[in-house]
Parts: sequence; C-alpha cells; structure tokens
Amino acid sequence: MIELYLILVGLAISSFLVSLSYRVPLKISMLTPPSFCPSCMRRLRAFELVPVVSYLALRGRCRTCGYSIPVRFFIVEIVTPILYLALYRVVGINPPFFIYAYLISLLLYLALVDIDTGSVSVGDIAAVYAGGLASLILSLRGLTAHGVVESLYGFGLCLGLLSLSVLILYLMKRRRTLGVGDLCILPGTALYFGLYSIIRILMFSSILGLITGVLLISLKRVDREFKFPLMPFVALGVCIEILAFYSKI
Ligand SMILES: [Zn+2]
Repeated sequence: MIELYLILVGLAISSFLVSLSYRVPLKISMLTPPSFCPSCMRRLRAFELVPVVSYLALRGRCRTCGYSIPVRFFIVEIVTPILYLALYRVVGINPPFFIYAYLISLLLYLALVDIDTGSVSVGDIAAVYAGGLASLILSLRGLTAHGVVESLYGFGLCLGLLSLSVLILYLMKRRRTLGVGDLCILPGTALYFGLYSIIRILMFSSILGLITGVLLISLKRVDREFKFPLMPFVALGVCIEILAFYSKI
C-alpha cells in the first residue's frame, strides 16, 4: 500500500518540480497563471496535466501548436516516483528518508534548471544548504548512519576543492566554462553525507560528467566551449551513493 502511495506522491511532486523549473527562472508565480503551453500560451486542460500519461498520449507535443515538450520533463516525471520507491526499499520510512527524498527532488529540479538556463540561483543553493543543516541536526541526534564530524570533514574537503577550482579558473581566465556559483552546491551537498560518501559522489559525478563530455564532443554534438551543466551529474552521483552504498553512508 505504501508503495502505491509513494508512486502517487512521486508523480505529483515530479509535476511540481517540472513546473517549478520552468516558472522560477522566469520569475512566474507558481499560482497564476494556471499551466499553459509556453509556445501558444493556451491554458492546459486537466487531462493534459496528468504526469507521464499526458506526455505519452500527446506524443510529447502541444495539442494545438505542436510545440515539442522537452523530453527531460518526461524523464523527471518517470524517474521521481521510481527513486522514491527505491529510496523506501533501501532506507525505510524514517528521518533520513525524508532528508534524502528532499535532496533528490531538489537536485532533479536543479538539473532541469541547469540544463535550461546554464546556472542555478543563490536561492537554489540556499535550499541545498537548508536541507544540509537539517541533516546535520539529525546527525547530532544520532538519527543518521554517519556522525556530524564526518559530515563536517566532507564539508571542509568540498570547500577546499571549491576554493582551488576558483583559483584555477581565475588563473586560466575561464570562468565562463564552468560556473563557480554552481560549484557552491558541493559543500552544501556534503552536509547530507559522511566523508567517504561525498568522496564517492564527487568521483561518480566527475567520471559520468567526463564520459558524457567526451562522448558529446567526439560525436560533435557540442563544441569545446560548451558549458556542461553540473547539476545532472551531481544528481546522478547522489542517487548512486544513496541507493547503492546506503549501509556505508
Ligand atoms: Zn502550444
């Protein structure tokens, strides 16, 4: 029964994340106007707002103007409930479940924003740190698998790497290629994990990012000046760590 509930909640939240990722960068309120097609501005009917099903039924296009709905929206709608289910199987229902469900949802949203706009805002980064502080409080009360000190070591490590990256990018005068602001997300993410976990996350994210980058450049889909979005790879690294290594977190 709880599985069905998690799927429904996951679908509802995925739809919210997609809408949030479109509206927040454009500074459009979440309440008004109601959902609309960004191309022909037509207000969407209720049956066009059902996550996953609507996309499939409409073959990913607007009913009137034929606007192609980005496939990444569909991927987030499918993946969110699956991740909630997997998280429940691995973690159970307890305080870490809610903390990690929050982090995963937030990173999916940030991945959409980063792909779309090429950067994330200060408010987005603050949301990562807010959850990280909540996670630290849980660790203080002994409710997480890792201790506070381990998280703080990870935070220090990421802060060091961030400073080093800023210095290197400054010396190379290539601040455009990789947003320094986006890297600020890493120390905040470290607050949710122990030291070894964040090292694994950095490793998974960099390797996956590197492989994707090399593939895209060699297939000539992007040029060398292309700014790779960081968030999808951080989201992937975090999901792999939580779902595959939870006992060592
Ligand atoms: Zn349209």
